[in-house]
Amino acid sequence: MQELLGERIMPSDLVCGKEIDEAAARAETGQTRYGATEVDPQAGTRRFHDGKWYYFCSLECRTKFMGSPETYLEQAGN
Ligand SMILES: [Zn+2]
Repeated sequence: MQELLGERIMPSDLVCGKEIDEAAARAETGQTRYGATEVDPQAGTRRFHDGKWYYFCSLECRTKFMGSPETYLEQAGN
């Protein structure tokens, strides 16, 4: 079951392990309703994957994750 609780834990970057300031990442990427467009993220970025948001410190990490999400999800114990 998918849980959508208001968790306040710091999400961490599955690629490099860095903790992400979720609020900052969200502020940078915005809450766009227009699709997947994002604005030049500097504090972090995120990606909706398989029913969850995943956070990344940079586009570089996100790109790596998108290249092989299973690998990183396995490492994270998901
Ligand atoms: Zn990273």
